[in-house]
Amino acid sequence: MSLRWKFFLSYLTVVTLALLTLAVAVALLAPADFSGRVRAMNMPEGRLRSQGMGGMMINLNTLEDVLNANFRQAVARALVLAGLVAVAAAAVASLLISQRIVQPIQALGAASRHIAAGHYEERLPVPGDDELGALTRSFNAMAEALARTETMRQQLIADVSHELKTPLASIQGFMEAMQDGVIPPTPEMFQRVHREADRLQRLVHDLQELSRAEASQLILDLRAHDAAELATSAAEWLRPQFEDRGLTLTVIPPETPLKVKADFDRARQVLLNLLGNALQYTPSGGQVTLRVSRERDMAHFAVSDTGVGLAAEDLERIFQRFYRVDKSRARASGGSGIGLTIARHIAEAHGGRLWAESAGPGKGSTFHFTLPLAG
Ligand code: ADP
Repeated sequence: MSLRWKFFLSYLTVVTLALLTLAVAVALLAPADFSGRVRAMNMPEGRLRSQGMGGMMINLNTLEDVLNANFRQAVARALVLAGLVAVAAAAVASLLISQRIVQPIQALGAASRHIAAGHYEERLPVPGDDELGALTRSFNAMAEALARTETMRQQLIADVSHELKTPLASIQGFMEAMQDGVIPPTPEMFQRVHREADRLQRLVHDLQELSRAEASQLILDLRAHDAAELATSAAEWLRPQFEDRGLTLTVIPPETPLKVKADFDRARQVLLNLLGNALQYTPSGGQVTLRVSRERDMAHFAVSDTGVGLAAEDLERIFQRFYRVDKSRARASGGSGIGLTIARHIAEAHGGRLWAESAGPGKGSTFHFTLPLAG
């Protein structure tokens, strides 16, 4: 049985029950009440009885019976008629009301089927401020989220195929040139092919990380760690590369020891990413500083460099996946443009933040990373 019929029948049942109760109550109460009133009006009976006119008394009693019987009939007829009219009116009202309730539900059903068929642009007008309105609003929000996910999915496929194309084309080009004897198969050539394969491997690894991060599946082993130790551990790991490039790397610890609540490896990964970028985008002779300080109830790590800097419009875009300011340069250096996207996910999964600041191109940049304090 459809919902509309269920509503219709339940309204009708309620109205019929109410009418039946009314009818029984009227049929039971009205005649008794009526006889009582007639008897109370029977003033002449007393007077007649006292005057010894018994015959008149009998006539009055008969009159009362006749009145009662007629009254019962009138009440019954009025009740049946009123009942019929009321049921008809209730049926019409019930049909209209059930239609009003069922129609938005039917629309929701149709829209869900439409969305399931891949039409993510489907939205419904909100019927009001009641529960059905709330349901429709939730439905629209869900459709919006699905549409966004679909766009992201399409964008991701396009980005990934684009990213895979370049190293694959290089490998293919080198191999064909060597096969055709255009280039001699020297160790140097094999090295180049190997480098491209390495890039592919890094890209696949980063993509796996990204998909875990975007699906909020990062499993964090949160414990209390010393913030300065975290910073030093990342800095010391990269120090040899900074020295090779002729860059100065300075770690400034906090004034008083700070404990952060973090997954040590993941937080270190963020700092390694920021320091690695500073290393990559700062010309030799430059300076990179990692300063650790306390900012209210957060530990604040600031990685500043004297490197290429960032334009205002890129400060937020660099956190989007695959976004690189200077595409050819970043690609040549092996950057996939995913590092900062993953790093921000890690920061946010900890309850912290990650953002960039720069006075402009050529003026260096500072990356801020915050983590909640332990305890
Ligand atoms: P990539 O692997 O390309 O470095 P990231 O996500 O780590 O990817 O960085 C995205 C882009 O942000 C980089 O390609 C670069 O253009 C810009 N960027 C990151 N760090 C810095 C920095 N310290 N100075 C200037 N630009 C930076």
